[in-house]
Amino acid sequence: MKIECKNLEHIYNKSNPFEKVALKDINLEINLGEFIGIIGHTGSGKSTLAQHLNGLLEPTGGDVLVDGISTKTKVKTDIRKNVGLVFQYPEYQLFEETCYKDIEFGPKNLGLTDKEIKERVEWACDAVGLDVEHMKEKSPFELSGGQKRRVAIAGVLAMEPEVLILDEPTAGLDPRGRDEILDQIAMLHEERKISVVLVSHSMEDIAKYVERMIVMNKGEKAFDGTPKEVFSHYKELESMGLAAPQITYIMHDLQAKGLPVDTNATTIEEAKRSILRALEKQIL
Ligand code: ADP
Repeated sequence: MKIECKNLEHIYNKSNPFEKVALKDINLEINLGEFIGIIGHTGSGKSTLAQHLNGLLEPTGGDVLVDGISTKTKVKTDIRKNVGLVFQYPEYQLFEETCYKDIEFGPKNLGLTDKEIKERVEWACDAVGLDVEHMKEKSPFELSGGQKRRVAIAGVLAMEPEVLILDEPTAGLDPRGRDEILDQIAMLHEERKISVVLVSHSMEDIAKYVERMIVMNKGEKAFDGTPKEVFSHYKELESMGLAAPQITYIMHDLQAKGLPVDTNATTIEEAKRSILRALEKQIL
């Protein structure tokens, strides 16, 4: 499955006094099996872009192609079967009496057999670390914030999408809840080869998990590359109201003080190895 944005433009309230250009001339390709991060300041167009990738919004200019067919013409339900979108604060959209019913809602509408639905719900619960039996009794309203979030993600996963788009999936969660959810998403990507598009404002999360990052700035695509490539522009990122991961700054400071470390290190683990190597060289 491939998603392409071609000169994509999105203007809200076009031709009225509240007109707002949210996306300008976006060109990008998302290929099967990628793990991509979309990052940018609030209002830079991340959510608008995410909603175009599964045809929820229609371009006001340019086009979005899913497997070569425009989202303007492709049957929306076909797109949504293959491209799952988890909104920001998805727990607000839980509405069934039990979590189980919420998770099976999507697959039930696909005309699957009861056995297939059951298997999908079981798999989706397992993928996000929920106990399926427990979900049969629990109302979504009895769960913690992190658990509710998992139920919402499981509901999208139960559709077995090839591409999973998550808009700020960890917003409002504590650090432990955040790491658990992101680790589970990374595992899904590894094991199931699902393409993942993670919208986030956290450089640390992006640096830790994604293989490619797209930086949005004022409705435009500012950078598109590996985290290392993008973080090498850390001064420009600052001018967009974004900071590189803290480790990037530390490594630059260490180098400026004369320690020959690799300033491309983007995770704590890489930085540790580079600092130890540099110290060993100094001692020898
Ligand atoms: P981000 O996800 O990066 O915070 P958004 O895609 O939500 O950015 O918003 C991009 C721009 O579009 C912002 O200026 C925002 O105020 C505007 N916008 C978003 N949604 C709407 C809407 N439904 N109606 C009008 N303007 C909107």
